[in-house]
Amino acid sequence: MIIDPLVSAFKSQFYPEVTDEEWCNWRWQLRNRIRDLEGAERIFSLSDSERSAIQKRQGLLPLGITPYYAALLDREDPLQGLRRTKIPSLDEFEVTGDECEDPLGEDAHSPLPGLVHTYPDKVLFLVTDFCATYCRYCTRARMVGGGEFLPEKSMWEKALDYIRSHTEIRDVLLSGGDPLILSDDRLEWILSRLSDIPHVEFLRIGTKVPAVLPYRITDELLSLLKKFHPLFFSIHFSHPDELTMEVRDACNRIADAGIPMGGQTVLLKGVNDDPQVMKALNQGLLRVRCKPYYLHQCDPIQGSAHFRTSIAQGQEIIRSLHGHTTGYAVPTYMVDTAGGGGKVPVGPDYVLGRDGDYVTLTNFEGKNTRYWDPI
Ligand SMILES: *Cc1c(COP(=O)(O)O)cnc(C)c1O
Repeated sequence: MIIDPLVSAFKSQFYPEVTDEEWCNWRWQLRNRIRDLEGAERIFSLSDSERSAIQKRQGLLPLGITPYYAALLDREDPLQGLRRTKIPSLDEFEVTGDECEDPLGEDAHSPLPGLVHTYPDKVLFLVTDFCATYCRYCTRARMVGGGEFLPEKSMWEKALDYIRSHTEIRDVLLSGGDPLILSDDRLEWILSRLSDIPHVEFLRIGTKVPAVLPYRITDELLSLLKKFHPLFFSIHFSHPDELTMEVRDACNRIADAGIPMGGQTVLLKGVNDDPQVMKALNQGLLRVRCKPYYLHQCDPIQGSAHFRTSIAQGQEIIRSLHGHTTGYAVPTYMVDTAGGGGKVPVGPDYVLGRDGDYVTLTNFEGKNTRYWDPI
């Protein structure tokens, strides 16, 4: 059992009766999530805006924070980045500009509940609407946490039939909600059926569990997952403060199980839209063998203006990384487009223009060179 000293100090203060054994039990963590005003007020000094937002919440994304993750949030400061990503404020009720419930048009590309088939050879399989901890900027805020689709085998069977009959699908990305909150048995049920499909050659699990509930990454889970290679994890990380001792240990054991990890980060105003923060996060991920994969522009879901940055700011962050640190630490910056157009890599661009048979390139230091490239 590994408990970070910071987490341990929090536990002694707010959960003095709880044994280390219970604390490190992922089911205990799920059962004891902070889910309402009373739970939040026991730990945090809430601002008026946070208190009203928790009271007002109706039909919107629920409040849900594992006690483990609560230890990483500032108890006093409502403006701390990580706290803003988990505790709602009244900003969430301000709908502006182009914001909508389903900005990616996923529903239009959904042949069945729980399946999104936007690209030719890969499919997104939403196996549950439940997460260990809800992120306020969730791109699927419209559907998660409401219990609208519980993990039901009858729903999964239909999705599996679709994948079986579409032989062009070679890549299945399990997401949700968070697939890793399913029991080992259920995960095995889904993964073994998928791996029995001859044309499915690549499996991925999109998850934030290693960051918000690292105790879920048990040796039993890993020995089960190992049977389904090639299996990759895409892990959602937001900030270097998430890389506690137990998270680093979980990632190292995931890597030891032969599961390659890609990091996925949503660019968030006041949370991680800072070159130093992003560099620390991405370098920290490399140290635990997780390759920063995508930096996502925050999707324009309803009430997300307080989290969104301009595309130019995201490009500046990539510029601050490329050439200035290990290439593996530089993710691809993606904007997911409206109406199901899919993800678009948006640079920054190092090709400045063309002059006859030469193109002008700019390097990481901003020095321009002409490169012979006849048409
Ligand atoms: C992001 C996404 C994928 C996976 O895309 P990659 O670029 O291969 O990581 C698949 N389907 C949908 C609908 C997606 O949004």
